[in-house]
Amino acid sequence: MRKHIVAGNWKMNKTFEEADELISNIMDKLEEVELDRNTQVIICPPFPYLEMASDFSDDSYFMVGAQDVSEHESGAYTGEISAAMLASMNIEYCIVGHSERRAYHHETDEQVARKVDQLLKNEIRPIVCCGEVLEEREAGKQFDVVRRQINDGLFHLDAEQLKQVVIAYEPVWAIGTGKTATPEQAQEIHAFIRGLIAEKYGDKVAKEISILYGGSCKPGNAKELFANPDVDGGLIGGACLKAEDFLAIVQAF
Ligand code: PEP
Repeated sequence: MRKHIVAGNWKMNKTFEEADELISNIMDKLEEVELDRNTQVIICPPFPYLEMASDFSDDSYFMVGAQDVSEHESGAYTGEISAAMLASMNIEYCIVGHSERRAYHHETDEQVARKVDQLLKNEIRPIVCCGEVLEEREAGKQFDVVRRQINDGLFHLDAEQLKQVVIAYEPVWAIGTGKTATPEQAQEIHAFIRGLIAEKYGDKVAKEISILYGGSCKPGNAKELFANPDVDGGLIGGACLKAEDFLAIVQAF
């Protein structure tokens, strides 16, 4: 059975003290709830807090991820963080190709592919984001956009490598806007993505890949989103900055 995953993307939020407090609150609340062992909780704080966060990681249901990684191995790339550095800090997941990186840092599908390669080489599981902007949705191009992102970012991998990848469908028009995809819209694209994987790698592999939904997911809508057969959890932005809200989403399966 593929994993249910709820991953919190903190983005560029929280001071060190606030981060410490939020992680402690999340851990306290996690201890109080009965989680099914198939649920993986991941937090992705900013780079400077990764070490502190990973001290809480228990290598089972609570793990730590980074928000980005360099496409390069090492060397003169001021400000960049390599996959080997993350691996040396026991970081287990890393978000790649988030729409904010694509929009503000002009990240391309080819760079996404290189980042995925760096992560897999260092045994870190990539959480690869895809999703269309509003104009693309309005023009009915969401399937073409997602197909291109998945094909160019991931389909150079072999089946064993692909099985390490988590995919996050994040319609850009729903990120941080309070506008959520309907459960039907989410299911439609998630099933489409799983179909693309099945076409290339076969049904068995496709059934093993967790596909998360992201975009204004919150306690009030997580249950109906996660109830869909191809929605295996969520990548959560704004709502992961409050321990109660994040935990309510974790419990929405
Ligand atoms: C995100 O940025 O990955 C995200 C899903 O943000 P939000 O939940 O705030 O829409």
